[in-house]
Amino acid sequence: MKTTVATVSLLTLLAVACKPSEAPPEAAADVAIAQQLAAAALTEAAAQEAAELVRSLSLVAGPRLAGSAGDARAVAWAEAKLRELGFENVRAEPVTVPHWERGAESGEILTPYPQPLHLTALGGSVATPPGGLVAEVLRVASLDELLALPADAARGRIVFVDRVMERKRDGSGYGPVVAARGRGASEAAKRGAVGFVMRSAATGNHRFPHTGAMRYEEGVPKIPAAALAVPDADLLADAIALGKPVSMRLTLETRWLPDAMSANVIGEIRGRERPDEIVLLGAHLDSWDLGTGALDDGAGVAIVISAARQVAALPQRPRRTIRVVLFANEEFGLSGGREYARVHADELDRHVLATEADFGDGKVWRFESKVAPEALAKMDRLATLLAPLGITVGSDPAGGGADLGPLAVGRVPLVDLSQDGTTYFDYHHTADDTFDKIDPASLAQNVAAYAITAWFAAEDPEGFGRAPGE
Ligand SMILES: [Zn+2]
Repeated sequence: MKTTVATVSLLTLLAVACKPSEAPPEAAADVAIAQQLAAAALTEAAAQEAAELVRSLSLVAGPRLAGSAGDARAVAWAEAKLRELGFENVRAEPVTVPHWERGAESGEILTPYPQPLHLTALGGSVATPPGGLVAEVLRVASLDELLALPADAARGRIVFVDRVMERKRDGSGYGPVVAARGRGASEAAKRGAVGFVMRSAATGNHRFPHTGAMRYEEGVPKIPAAALAVPDADLLADAIALGKPVSMRLTLETRWLPDAMSANVIGEIRGRERPDEIVLLGAHLDSWDLGTGALDDGAGVAIVISAARQVAALPQRPRRTIRVVLFANEEFGLSGGREYARVHADELDRHVLATEADFGDGKVWRFESKVAPEALAKMDRLATLLAPLGITVGSDPAGGGADLGPLAVGRVPLVDLSQDGTTYFDYHHTADDTFDKIDPASLAQNVAAYAITAWFAAEDPEGFGRAPGE
């Protein structure tokens, strides 16, 4: 991996873009500090330090699905790392999580032309009978096509939802395909199916299938559910296109265990004037079980820890507290996000701003916010401070990230620093999400953007009001 961090040219760019001499005095000061934060985050040494956090988490905890031994190691890693890096009030707040385990899994086309298929169980799937499930495959082009099938149309079949995910910078190709992952199995079962497979909700053309959460509808038979790697979905579709019956075997050994304990791991940079007011930087500590969770969400963990450290390194502490929250079990039910909002309900009104990093290591390219209308001008100011990093302003209200959804009850102001996700879904939730995919320079640009945002929010005299309700 190569790192070229253009600190000098960035400083020039910052100086030109911000024109501090034309801004009011307090604004000139914020430009200088934003420049300082960016310069510090973008040094090669800082970029490598952030990347080393990802390497360490990927190595020490490794695959860390909720409830697993890796998940427990991740909690211990995070507590120790935050202490070692000088965070205050470091603690692990307990969170109950579901515990599901993958076992051996395989698939094969049996007729007309036998060959193996690369597939993986969707998270939460029941097992197949021992020896596997053999059935004829019924292909539908989309979840909508499955929904349009009459009752019984899939009797005794394995339903195959074959919708291709579109590659998009903002990741918006994911939503339309991932709906089938969540409810496809139950919809297929309602129509008589005995098994469910889908084309991976992924853009990579390697043979690593993409897993992710699925759920069963109450009162509907639970059928085994798996995702085919993209080239294997092509194979199966090609076989079906010949017009002869295609049968396959699906073998999944999965099991459900009793709920387990995990934790939201928290560390703070305490504020100098208003320590009870909080700027929350979030990421999630858990990962899917196939890869080592370097991009999802080791990168986010490194970004928020490193950003808080950059602010802590300024000569003056921020006015408010910067709280890093590494959420438990984002992937398999948002247990950590929900528990945080519940446990911290009485201080949500003192959460001045929250943002989450959970989209790999792609550079931040867009800024969006959701704050009180009277605070929008401040967000414009923050956007000017971010602009030299190549970040433009989007037109939608910020969503805040999955773990921050439960904070909506407290109408906590949110910021989105949208990352470039063009290649994210080549690796996301696959065995190929490993540390070698991390680009330290790109990670450093994220750290700079999060550091500026955290500092700006922690320092602002009045805050940003409450976000508009839904
Ligand atoms: Zn994630």
